[in-house]
Amino acid sequence: MNFNTALLHNNFRGDTSTGATVVPVCQTSAFAHESAEKLEAVFNSKAFGYAYSRISNPTVDSFEKRMAALEKGIGAVACSSGMAAVTMSLLNILQSGDEIIAGSGLFGGTLDLFEDLKAFGITAKFTDDVTPESIEPLITDKTKAIFAELIGNPKLNVVDVKAVAELAHSHGIPLIADSTTATPYLIHPFEYGADIVVHSSSKYINGGGNAISGVIIDSGSFKWDASRYPGFKGYEKFGKLAYLAKLRDRKSVV
Ligand SMILES: *Cc1c(COP(=O)(O)O)cnc(C)c1O
Repeated sequence: MNFNTALLHNNFRGDTSTGATVVPVCQTSAFAHESAEKLEAVFNSKAFGYAYSRISNPTVDSFEKRMAALEKGIGAVACSSGMAAVTMSLLNILQSGDEIIAGSGLFGGTLDLFEDLKAFGITAKFTDDVTPESIEPLITDKTKAIFAELIGNPKLNVVDVKAVAELAHSHGIPLIADSTTATPYLIHPFEYGADIVVHSSSKYINGGGNAISGVIIDSGSFKWDASRYPGFKGYEKFGKLAYLAKLRDRKSVV
């Protein structure tokens, strides 16, 4: 399946219950089940199904699967905006005392977020050019993430993903890439070593400029060691899916 076909058909073969040929919009907060026991099982992730749209919803699920397929990731979590995606991609792994290293030419909302995170004890260190040479001197024991926009908005500066990912991994640090401006049409950041990709899908991915949304996609390749990332305690059993399980807040079962 090539790019244009995958855009339309990946993970979606029509709705078998209604015959709809495009993804129906399920505009509902909650989902009914035949018994309280079934609902409880779904709610506790012990049975497949939908319970509440903040956690999952067939329309959102279809978008997440499609984005994961386009980025060649193991899964995705959709968010209410690109800023929600950027924020949650970091808060899912960080705690007070941690440091982030980031490019300085970032989207304004992300720069504001990094300023706001100071109040929670999370510090961002900035580098004008996101290169291994400029990042390495900024790395400390507290560095828990490197964050870069692959094509910066607004400067359009381009990051050498492979070189930066290699440096990050040599220090046991994940690379979180904001690929909003690049889109999966231009690059698959996971093929060059990025660990997590975020998008503001309000931009090219929406395409029509009529809705705000964001998405976080996981490569599944970073090992979230709970001794370095204490929030992952209890999530080890999810293996490669630990980051996504934590993000969706599913401690019990997949
Ligand atoms: C727009 C944008 C965001 C924020 O996304 P919203 O959907 O506006 O919240 C984040 N990163 C980049 C690179 C953007 O262009």
